[in-house]
Amino acid sequence: MLNKLLHDYRIRLKRIDTIFDDVRRKHPNAVPCHAGCSQCCYALFAVPPIDGFLLLNELQSRSKDTYARAVNACKNLFEIFQRTVCTEASIPFRIEQIGWKEFESMAEMFCRPCPFLTANGHCGVYASRPRICRLAGTVFMNSETGITLPDFCDIAAAAREQTGFLPEEIDFHELDMMQMEFNDALRSCFNGVMSTGYTFPAAGVLEARQFTDRLDT
Ligand code: SF4
Ligand code: SF4
Repeated sequence: MLNKLLHDYRIRLKRIDTIFDDVRRKHPNAVPCHAGCSQCCYALFAVPPIDGFLLLNELQSRSKDTYARAVNACKNLFEIFQRTVCTEASIPFRIEQIGWKEFESMAEMFCRPCPFLTANGHCGVYASRPRICRLAGTVFMNSETGITLPDFCDIAAAAREQTGFLPEEIDFHELDMMQMEFNDALRSCFNGVMSTGYTFPAAGVLEARQFTDRLDT
């Protein structure tokens, strides 16, 4: 059940990439993203649990050494997070337990590279990167709510300002439904242990690993 949802989610995420590429093709000067540009990867940001599972899935497809290195990088980042900004954090971590305002203040103080960022500034999990990573670099308007999504990048914001770019509409309904369905499936697989809400990528991977290990035992 979880694997089928992950499979469908991955396909749906690829459609976001197609939409993003379309915007970039139509407005090349308003979308300055390129390989190696990685300012957006030095940040603490929220992801739904499904993104953590997708990342773990990707890492498990790598060699044993690469997998172990990536999991260690997540552990290190989480420990620094605990030590420096959130002593009460544990796995599974939910932003809702500490509150969004508090998390945002922590994020401002916690400017560290994503554990999946490679030495040459590339995304080491590109095909399975979280949904939010696929949106950084431009802004979209949610067609269902009419709300323009927050801007994640100063470099892109400056480029857009110069070109007079207006946000394009995007439909997130299907992805939102998948996230909810995944949370429900987690809850039933793990006897209600899993709550809804958001985590961050390193914590999401550790959570997915913890629950996958539990399934295996
Ligand atoms: S979102 Fe910003 S920092 Fe990230 S790749 Fe695009 S331009 Fe570079
Ligand atoms: S998952 Fe990839 S794109 Fe997203 S922050 Fe990490 S390195 Fe950057």
